[in-house]
Amino acid sequence: MENVVVVGSSLAGLRAAENLRTLGFGGVITVVGAERHLPYDRPPLSKKFLAGEWQLEQIALRKPEMLGELNLTLRLGSPAMSLDTVTRSVTLGDGEVLHYDGLIIATGASCRPLPNAPALAGMHELRTLDDSLSLRADLESRNTPGRLVVIGAGFIGLEAAATARRAYGCEVTVLEGLAAPLVRALGPELGNAIAAVHADNGVEVRCGVQVAGIEGNGTSVSGVRLGDGSLITADVVLVGIGVVPNTGWLEGSGLELRDGVVCDATLNTGVAGVYAAGDLVRWPNALFGEEMRVEHWTTASEQGAAAAANLLATSRGEPATPFTTVPFFWSDQFDARIQYLGRGSGDDEVRIVAGSVDERRFVALYGSKGKLRAALGVSMPKVVMPFRKLLAEQASWDEALAFAAERAG
Ligand SMILES: Cc1cc2nc3c(=O)[nH]c(=O)nc-3n(C[C@H](O)[C@H](O)[C@H](O)COP(=O)(O)OP(=O)(O)OC[C@H]3O[C@@H](n4cnc5c(N)ncnc54)[C@H](O)[C@@H]3O)c2cc1C
Repeated sequence: MENVVVVGSSLAGLRAAENLRTLGFGGVITVVGAERHLPYDRPPLSKKFLAGEWQLEQIALRKPEMLGELNLTLRLGSPAMSLDTVTRSVTLGDGEVLHYDGLIIATGASCRPLPNAPALAGMHELRTLDDSLSLRADLESRNTPGRLVVIGAGFIGLEAAATARRAYGCEVTVLEGLAAPLVRALGPELGNAIAAVHADNGVEVRCGVQVAGIEGNGTSVSGVRLGDGSLITADVVLVGIGVVPNTGWLEGSGLELRDGVVCDATLNTGVAGVYAAGDLVRWPNALFGEEMRVEHWTTASEQGAAAAANLLATSRGEPATPFTTVPFFWSDQFDARIQYLGRGSGDDEVRIVAGSVDERRFVALYGSKGKLRAALGVSMPKVVMPFRKLLAEQASWDEALAFAAERAG
């Protein structure tokens, strides 16, 4: 293997390129990116960067000199348009055709669009640096704090709500169709515990409401119409209703696409020499006995490195290693640091093992079928993080409760 193409110039793609070099690959690595920016970090886009506290250089994933040392051929600002696994080539938007011996697909995900949303000034989504700059400019530009409506109470929408409230003093309403924020993962009680953190800080989180449409006055957004006919006035609207994997360019390639790129346990796509990593990967995670697609920073980073290692190993005739992980996500909302480990469900048994919802500091465990499935911590990092080891060891529910009791004692 002399020539590797990495498509996607963000976290998973960068980690793949870095690990190829770490493991001794001396050939050509071409990194293709749809965005024109050098690789940058997304988590600050809804936190300190959106708040205006951090600037561009603070969100660079690597300093320019470190990128230089990797000796990468960067093709930024020109997306991959198609993949031909027979001729082993990727065609870019500018017509260039890149041939590869090995390919890593790391094109991540994009915001799910709100159906029938009009193109009005003040309407935003939040996935890219340009999105964050545009939202930040809109929040900053007002003499008096604006009114922000966030559609969707997912982690990113809630973070942006907290930032708009704290950094810009906006009046903020978050709209959620389900019974509580994050209800699928956290369940209603603890989803509402997160909503309470927002209520404490003057953000209104309204659950169980349907958005009927967006209203505008001329060219700018003026409000969000709800299913019951009422109108919530808004100067700025952020749509945060989840993401869709960026697999459009792979249509017709023969790869299996199903809400992501379907991979085997080693992150191989089913085609020799073609691996995938990051938010768009759907793979069987043996630790949890289920196929999953994870949209978390740590998993994208780990998968980038693992896909590179497996590509290199198989090119040398060595076996590939199955990729397993305990999914981990953190989120900062006001003063709460939320940390979530594992793969729980709103239907799991839930037990608060430290702190309390009233104190806005707690650790909760999620269990099902006699097994520990997940752990949620709010502002108790030292208590929640050790549960990662238990999840990796596939601890039973009783073992997890005993561990929690021992630590509490
Ligand atoms: C605002 C925000 C806040 C977040 N906060 C947290 C957090 O607090 N904690 C946490 O764990 N996770 C967080 N995440 C999630 C985390 O950032 C992602 O899991 C991670 O970025 C995924 O990395 P990736 O490389 O797989 O995909 P992405 O970061 O989506 O990168 C994919 C790249 O591929 C490019 N691309 C797409 N299509 C093409 C194409 N056809 N050709 C070439 N390039 C293409 C895209 O432009 C993009 O640059 C946050 C995400 C966002 C958006």
